[in-house]
Amino acid sequence: MADPIATGVDKAELAKKYAEERAKRIRTDGVKQYKEIEVGSELEVDPFTEVAPRDPISKDVEVAIVGAGWSGQLSAVRLRQEGIDDIAIIDKAADFGGTWYWNRYPGIACDCDSYVYLPLLEETGYMPTVKYAPGSEILDHARAVGRMYDLYKNAIFQTYVTDVTWDRKLSRWIVTTNRGDAIRARFVITGTGGVLHRPKLPGIPGIEKFEGHSFHSSRWDYEYTGGDSFGNLDKLADKRVAVIGTGPTSLQAFPHIAESAKEAYLVQRTPTIVGVRDNGPTDPAWYSAQQPGWQQARMDNFEAQMAGIPVEEKIVTDDWTRVWGIPPLKIPADGSAPDLAAYMAELEENDIVQMERIRARVDELIDDPELAERLKPWYATHCKRPGFHDSYLQSFNKPNVHLIDTEGKGVDKITAKGLVVDGKEYEVDLIIYATGFESAVSPGRSGGFEITGVDGLTLAKAWEQRVRTVHGIQAAGFPNMFHIGALRQAAVSVNLLYVYDEQAKHVAKHIKQLVEDGVVKLDVTETAVQEWCDTMDSKNGLVFNAEQVALCTPGYFNNEGDFDTAGTFEHGRPIWADAYGGGAFEYTQVLAAWRESKEYESRAIIERAGA
Ligand code: NDP
Repeated sequence: MADPIATGVDKAELAKKYAEERAKRIRTDGVKQYKEIEVGSELEVDPFTEVAPRDPISKDVEVAIVGAGWSGQLSAVRLRQEGIDDIAIIDKAADFGGTWYWNRYPGIACDCDSYVYLPLLEETGYMPTVKYAPGSEILDHARAVGRMYDLYKNAIFQTYVTDVTWDRKLSRWIVTTNRGDAIRARFVITGTGGVLHRPKLPGIPGIEKFEGHSFHSSRWDYEYTGGDSFGNLDKLADKRVAVIGTGPTSLQAFPHIAESAKEAYLVQRTPTIVGVRDNGPTDPAWYSAQQPGWQQARMDNFEAQMAGIPVEEKIVTDDWTRVWGIPPLKIPADGSAPDLAAYMAELEENDIVQMERIRARVDELIDDPELAERLKPWYATHCKRPGFHDSYLQSFNKPNVHLIDTEGKGVDKITAKGLVVDGKEYEVDLIIYATGFESAVSPGRSGGFEITGVDGLTLAKAWEQRVRTVHGIQAAGFPNMFHIGALRQAAVSVNLLYVYDEQAKHVAKHIKQLVEDGVVKLDVTETAVQEWCDTMDSKNGLVFNAEQVALCTPGYFNNEGDFDTAGTFEHGRPIWADAYGGGAFEYTQVLAAWRESKEYESRAIIERAGA
């Protein structure tokens, strides 16, 4: 049945509007438009914890894990559960948490249901306070997991890894750091957060000339703003503040700037999707009535709804499942081929319904109709990760809040006093860059170190043309090394930790198996890598429709619009073109087969102790 909101939408007109809005945002410099923040530079270092001095460490371990965010920490937990204790977890942060350690901006919260997102809820017995937990609670949960699994004794914090190099004679990885450490590891796991780790700045001319204060949203300066991650930014009462960016970070942080600053400016290039949040406290009675195994069942249910897999009951229902969830493909009972054209038409119809709802919500919540028009997103739901908030839009009704709509063009330049858009200068005291992260980059790039494998080949060089792996986890020429959460060539999920934890369980089991088998070196073959690349290419037509993605407004999902639909990807591959098309469940089965059926034995060069 047609949805009343969608009724009357002229699809041709809508497509024209989408194309017009996209055209405003198109630029020729693609991902090169951004400015790198150097690792260890003033804009990147830890504003939360003083660095404690210590002596260099020199030791041998079975497994070194680079990165103590959720991917590294879950790897450590899963190794512990497999009985592997001889591990070192190295991170530049002063604690566990990763993304949640660095991102402490006001309003920070989980954007997926906490009962799905927070790992190990049944194991820890922890009940999230609300449906979408605040960042500080997630950071506390990471610390609690660290204590529960006794991981602090293995942690080497406040330490930048500088190089990870294969030592042929030792058959070990040598991990060196900025503290003069040398950790010799049989196996290395990278969990360096290839998605949300390395902050980036916009390449706006004059950015270095600004004489006021500025910082990236992932290094929030509460000394300057006052308050904490729950807001109350009292030191901004006499300040004019500009926030650049309209991504999920800005969506969560800007309402607090609007609340506290004397004047608050939101610099918009592309209006964002603002779905309903509807957060609320966890009902302890409901929570304690959950049966053993409930969390995995809930995670699987969310995953299935998002991937169009039939479910008996919709356990999670929120704007994720409504806006981004897709209906299952109807398989005819007589065994005939499903009607793919009808299915694609259904998906398109659904998308229009959801985006019309999103745009109608802007009209409902914004007092000034002209302003409402400027805040409406004109693109399909799959073009950008949507945001959810119940006070972002309303903040534009306040007299101290100003939308600087750059009509897709961004800021012209930054001056000593502020920023210039369309020839007009806006004088401000503080500029906050909510401009995101280098997305889906290689683990070494994300972590800011070089990985050098056998024959002196660096991972950066090996992946120059394309990320080339088996399962997104192992690469030829880089023996005994496993990448968790690197995103490319693996299954993807909006609940990132779903895939990361499956990878962590797999790698922990596999390492245990290799240790028990007396394997000292396992290097996947180039043939195995090519097979996986071929699998990716043959399967990803299911998730990557080049023509549809080309119609999207630019963003990090589609390599900032800079890719060719012919598939040569000379300038880089859109993330969608690197997602495993079989989905997360099938991906997990593929990993299990590799391990349990010992598929790797015919697809890797293996050396055993004493051989
Ligand atoms: P994003 O990359 O999503 O957004 C960056 C923003 O900066 C975009 O709006 C972009 O504009 C804007 N921008 C970049 N350059 C310029 C310029 N020159 N002028 C004006 N604007 C500019 O970063 P976020 O930090 O918001 O989010 C990063 C990721 O973190 C997302 O994937 C998100 O899902 C995730 N996240 C997850 C949360 C969770 O709870 N799990 C919470 C917060 C974030 P344009 O849109 O035009 O490109």
